[in-house]
Amino acid sequence: MDSNYELIIGLEVHVQSKTKSKMFCSCDANYFNAAPNSHVCPVCFGLPGALPVPNKRAIELCIKTALALNCKINQNTKFDRKNYFYPDLPKGFQISQYDQPIGYEGYIDIETKEGKKRIGITRIHQEEDTGKSIHSNGETLLDYNKSGVPLIEIVSEPDFRTKEEVTAYCKRLRQIVRYLSVSTADMEKGEMRFELNMSLRKRGESTLPKYKVEVKNIASISVLEKVIDYEFKRQSEILDNGELPQQETRGLVDMSGQTVSQRTKENEADYRYFPEPDIPLIEISQDMIEQIRAEMVELPQAKKDRYVKEYNIDADTAEAIITDSATYVTFENMIAGLSPNYIVEIAKWYTGDYFSLVNNKERHSGFLDSMLVDIVKMVVDKKITRANAKEVLEISYTQGSKPEEVVEQKGFEIVSDTGAIAEIVEKVIANNPKAVEDAQKNPNAAMFLVGQAMRELKGQADAQTVKDMVLEKISK
Ligand SMILES: [Zn+2]
Repeated sequence: MDSNYELIIGLEVHVQSKTKSKMFCSCDANYFNAAPNSHVCPVCFGLPGALPVPNKRAIELCIKTALALNCKINQNTKFDRKNYFYPDLPKGFQISQYDQPIGYEGYIDIETKEGKKRIGITRIHQEEDTGKSIHSNGETLLDYNKSGVPLIEIVSEPDFRTKEEVTAYCKRLRQIVRYLSVSTADMEKGEMRFELNMSLRKRGESTLPKYKVEVKNIASISVLEKVIDYEFKRQSEILDNGELPQQETRGLVDMSGQTVSQRTKENEADYRYFPEPDIPLIEISQDMIEQIRAEMVELPQAKKDRYVKEYNIDADTAEAIITDSATYVTFENMIAGLSPNYIVEIAKWYTGDYFSLVNNKERHSGFLDSMLVDIVKMVVDKKITRANAKEVLEISYTQGSKPEEVVEQKGFEIVSDTGAIAEIVEKVIANNPKAVEDAQKNPNAAMFLVGQAMRELKGQADAQTVKDMVLEKISK
């Protein structure tokens, strides 16, 4: 976006927690594909007299997320009523958190082309989801299966200046909640949703703009990117005309990213927040915090930094390995107990040839990840060439054969007998006097002799050893 304007973006991300039951009742929280209104009770419907009982597991998951995002924890926390009227909200209010959110003042470090950047987290709080309105044939149908499902809301500071930063943040955040088993964050199922707060200012200005446009209910990162593009263009045009875009909430027209005005933005007073009288105050003990902290796995960025530092793996390869838990667990199992020279090669083979096989070929049930380790060891130990190792890997992967057996059948074992190599090198030198003469003038020309010798050796020798030997013999 080459322009006179700079983006100012803040995000609110909703993540559906992975709990068995809903936030304030015992209804099954896994409502995906269930018949409408089959996961409901008087609490979900907000019937008079129904009392909410907070889900302890959900609160633990919210604390875990807050800790992972470097937040401070409000050890005295409470729930509040956020009042608004909407058909999918039968109580007339949503139980959320107002002035004592579970977590506050945290941050996430993201990586951009310009390096690492810290995005501030204003707050993390626990709330409940609403029901769902389905509009069809001029009618509105209501499904309350989603009503009361636990949601964690993560509110960022307006720290984003480019679309790339927003994307990097959303992906890292999704990775973090998945690593922690807080949420499956499956956007197709609506388990992770975004609200965008966006405005523009002239480049070089340092104060925040006097307006903010909010776009709600964005269901995927790709749509979020399109909305940013759309709004950038729309707001730039208004500013170019010397006007100020209206402070408002806009809705999505479709998945193209186009937005339309919905209403001028409510302010907090419109929600008439007040403490939820049916739920006692909640105390989060230091013991509870420490116990949750102790259960946490190493987070993606820390893991990536450690791979780069400890194993000398390049950043892109490390990023590919930390993609998800299954990918890094497989890697960590493979490298357990190995020395660093093997680990860095395994990382390359794993994310290169192995990933490509996973994507393109059927895996034989007899293939074990330890076979990849065996193959890479043979390469590092100069027992087989890289080119042959690729073939061995493919055969093992698709046929389940043991790498050592494939190497033996194919005659891939490198000739390590230097006497045998020397014999062939001498023969090649004797047969190519013209090439020897050229190579003595220009060492680059020696590659022809190396090639001839490698052909005689049927490729089963270490090319560097052969090259060294050729250079040594013609220099005499
Ligand atoms: Zn219920």
